[in-house]
Amino acid sequence: MAEIDTETRAWLSQSRETVARTQLAPLAEAVGRVEQVADGIASVSGLPKARLNELLHFDGGRTGFALTLDADTIGAVLFDEGDTIEAGSRVTGTGEVVRVPVGEALLGRIVDPLGRPLDDKGPIDAEAFHPAERPAPAIIERDLVSRPVETGILVIDALFALGRGQRELIIGDRATGKTSIAIDTIINQKNSDIICVYVAVGQRATAVERVIEAVRTHGAPERCIFVVASASASPGMQWIAPFAGFTMAEYFRDRGGHALVVIDDLTKHAATHRELALLTREPPGREAYPGDIFYLHARLLERAAMLSAERGGGSLTALPIAETDAGNLSAYIPTNLISITDGQIVLNSRLFAANQRPAVDVGLSVSRVGGKAQHPALRQVSGRIRLDYSQFLELEMFTRFGGISDNRIKAQMDRGERIRTLLAQPRFASLRMVDQIGLLTALGAGALDAMPPADILALRARIPSLIDGRAPEVARSIAAGKPLDDVQRSELVAAVRAMVAGNSTTDPETPQ
Ligand code: ATP
Ligand code: MG
Repeated sequence: MAEIDTETRAWLSQSRETVARTQLAPLAEAVGRVEQVADGIASVSGLPKARLNELLHFDGGRTGFALTLDADTIGAVLFDEGDTIEAGSRVTGTGEVVRVPVGEALLGRIVDPLGRPLDDKGPIDAEAFHPAERPAPAIIERDLVSRPVETGILVIDALFALGRGQRELIIGDRATGKTSIAIDTIINQKNSDIICVYVAVGQRATAVERVIEAVRTHGAPERCIFVVASASASPGMQWIAPFAGFTMAEYFRDRGGHALVVIDDLTKHAATHRELALLTREPPGREAYPGDIFYLHARLLERAAMLSAERGGGSLTALPIAETDAGNLSAYIPTNLISITDGQIVLNSRLFAANQRPAVDVGLSVSRVGGKAQHPALRQVSGRIRLDYSQFLELEMFTRFGGISDNRIKAQMDRGERIRTLLAQPRFASLRMVDQIGLLTALGAGALDAMPPADILALRARIPSLIDGRAPEVARSIAAGKPLDDVQRSELVAAVRAMVAGNSTTDPETPQ
C-alpha cells in the first residue's frame, strides 16, 4: 500500500474531527402533494408554510413556484412542462424564492429565464444567484436622470431623447417596427459602456433568431444577454422572464455600471399573467385581467433607476414594448403601461405603410425625463426642428385640398418635407451624435432647402466622413459634450454646403 504523506494524514484527522462533531438529528422537511395538474398549473396541498413566490421541487426534478396561496392549497406554476408530475406526486418547499444566476459569465449568452444555457457554449459559471423578484431602489438611493442613452435613431435622439435610468415604452400595432427600434438601440451601444439585456416573452422562435442574428451581425453580442421564453415556453417561464432579465441587468447597475433592458413584449406577459390568474381562479377584473396586473408591471419597471453617487452611480434603463390593437392606446394594458413609464414612443401603422420608417407618431410620443440628459448641442438645434415639423404636419392637413400660393407657407412646407425625409431612417444605419447635430444644424440654417430628397439620403450616408474630414475640431468638441458656438455652427453648415455644391457640379454619380 502506498505511503500516506503528512498532508493527507492531517486532512484525514481533521475530517475525523469534523465527522465526530457533526450532530445527527432528524430533519423536518415540508412535503406536500399534488392534487391536480393541468395547463402548467399544479394545485398543491399540505404545504401550509409555503410563501408567495417560493420555489417548489416536484418529483422527477421539476420545479415551479407558488403563485397563489389559499387556506389549504397553493396554486403552483410549473417551469417545465412534463408528464412526470401527476396527482399524488410529492412536492417539497424550499423556503427560498426563485433565483437566477447573475454575473459577467452571462454576457454573450442565450439563456432561458432560469439562466440555463440555450446556446451551445457550455455551462455558465455564475457569480451568484439573486432573487428574480427584488425590491426597487428607494427614492433616497436615486439620482436625477442626467446622462443620455444614445439610440442612433435621429427622430428619437432629437425629439424624444432618452436618459439613463428612464423607462420608455415602445408601443404600436403589430409589425410597425417596435422590435426594430429596440434592437437598433441595442446595436448602437456597440461603442458605449451600456450592457444590454434582451428579454423575449412569447415571441415566435424565428423572430427571436432574427433579433440575435441582427445583434451578432451589427452590434456587440459579447456585451448582451438574451433571455428567451418564446411562445412555446411554459407559462411559468414566460411569467418570470422579465423579472429574471431585470435581475441579470441589476447586477451591472449595482456595481456602478450601466445597463439597458428590453422587454419584448409586456402585452404577451400580461396575457400570460391573465391566463395563470384565470387558471388559479383569481377573480377577473377589467378585460378579464386580475386586479394586480398594474402592480405586477409597476413593481417590475420601478426597478429601472439612476442610482445616486453613494450607491455607485450605476443605471438601469428599461425599454418595455407593448402591442396595441388598431392603434387603440386607451385599452387597459396600454394605459397602465403609459402611466407607469416616463414616456412612450408611439408607432403608427399608417406612417409605416406610407414608408415613413421608423413610423414614430411625433404628436403622440413623449419623453418626460430624457430631455434633461440630451447633448447640449443637440438640444440647441432640436427645439426648432420640433416646432417646424409640427407646424408642417398641421399645414399639410390644411393644404391637402388646395394649391399653396403664399411663398412663406411654401418655404415652410419645403422645410417640413426635408425634416420628414431626414427623420426617416433605414435599419442598421445608426447616426453618431455629431452626425445628428451636423445634419440638424445644416437643416436649421437652410442648407438643405434646395436639396432633392434623394440627395438628402446621400448626404446622410456621407455625413460621418464629411464632418470628420472637414470639421474634426467640431466633432471633438461635440464628443466632449460641449454646446456649439457660432463659429463651430457655421463650420458645420459650410461643410454641408460645400458638399451640396460639390454634388451638383463635380459629383454626377449621386442619385438625383
Ligand atoms: P411584431 O408585432 O411582429 O413584433 P414589430 O412591431 O416588432 O412586429 P418589427 O419586427 O420590428 O416590428 O418590424 C417589422 C418589419 O418592418 C421588419 O421587416 C423590419 O425589417 C421592418 N422595419 C422596421 N423598421 C424599419 C426601418 N426603419 N426601415 C425599414 N424597414 C423597417
Ligand atoms: Mg416585435
